[in-house]
Amino acid sequence: AEFCRQLPKVELHAHLNGSISSATMQTLLKRYKNRLEREGNETPQLWETTILKGEKRALADCFLMFKMIHTLVNDEESVRIVAHEVVREFADDGVVYLELRSTPRANPATGMTKHSYVQAILCGIDKALSECRTTMHVRLLLSIDRRQSVAEAMDTVELALAHVEQTPHHTRVVGIDLSGDPTVGDIPALLPVLHSAKERGLKLSLHVSEIPQRNEETALLLSVCPDRLGHGTFIHQEAGGSPELEERVLAMKTPIEVCLTSNVKGQTVSNYENHHLPLWHKRGHPIVICTDDKGVFSTTLSEEYAIAGETFFLSQEQLRQLASHAVEHIFEHDLKNELLKLSDV
Ligand code: IMP
Repeated sequence: AEFCRQLPKVELHAHLNGSISSATMQTLLKRYKNRLEREGNETPQLWETTILKGEKRALADCFLMFKMIHTLVNDEESVRIVAHEVVREFADDGVVYLELRSTPRANPATGMTKHSYVQAILCGIDKALSECRTTMHVRLLLSIDRRQSVAEAMDTVELALAHVEQTPHHTRVVGIDLSGDPTVGDIPALLPVLHSAKERGLKLSLHVSEIPQRNEETALLLSVCPDRLGHGTFIHQEAGGSPELEERVLAMKTPIEVCLTSNVKGQTVSNYENHHLPLWHKRGHPIVICTDDKGVFSTTLSEEYAIAGETFFLSQEQLRQLASHAVEHIFEHDLKNELLKLSDV
């Protein structure tokens, strides 16, 4: 485990509000309760926002947890706190490059707009980096939630492009993520938005085949030529996908962000041994070990590397190579050489 912590790692699939540690959650709860008390409102009793070690939940319950977390992270200050803490925790875990992703959210009650939401994240990131004693780089993807309308999704793309334009030489916003409850949403309607994002220079990471029998939808999403895929749990034919889809992804060489504990705790994969990671790894297909939601699934990136090592009998050298190859798939091209040097030591 210590080897995995020391390993310089890149984290490419981390949803901001899913990555909140229990310590930060306590701070947020206190803030929230204080505000409710000030306003004379009762505080709700049950707040389950994390799945403890050894426990599992239905995927639908995980999405309920996000809803609860969003109630707590509802103003610019809480967004700043969360971004600051999450970046600090990834740094402490030996992450040298982090791509966070988050769905811009407005809240008229607290005056938060989608724009100020993103600003608050960037502010929290900057604060964490200014305190960081080790080398670390952080970039941001803006997430489109699958249930959003075309107009909402397009707003997110415009928001990302506005940030790129405003900070041409030091932009932190590098791409778009498509995520959210995989059982809902109109993907065909969102395709032109994704196309437009890609055409206008944003990188794309798309959640695909997170649940079974989504071959058609996944084929549509692949037609946008995404730069990375999230989960891809049911693409490989041995995992219940189809030979055509599997061959297509292999030919496209699109890296897959794999999130072991997330898939096991969310019960889309029955246990670690049955995870699709080795199916792709065996074929030489690029995979990147990621956490997804380190808070909700109570894990860390180094734990995910350790679990991969133990489950699939990977040597330290193989784990080191996985971490180093992950650098090839970061969205900030200019940092690759610097990061590769770090992972060579
Ligand atoms: P946020 O975008 O920072 O608010 O992070 C939480 C959001 O990330 C959730 O509401 C979902 O839209 C998305 N998310 C987190 N984990 C998953 C997952 O495993 N599958 C799909 N979407 C996810």
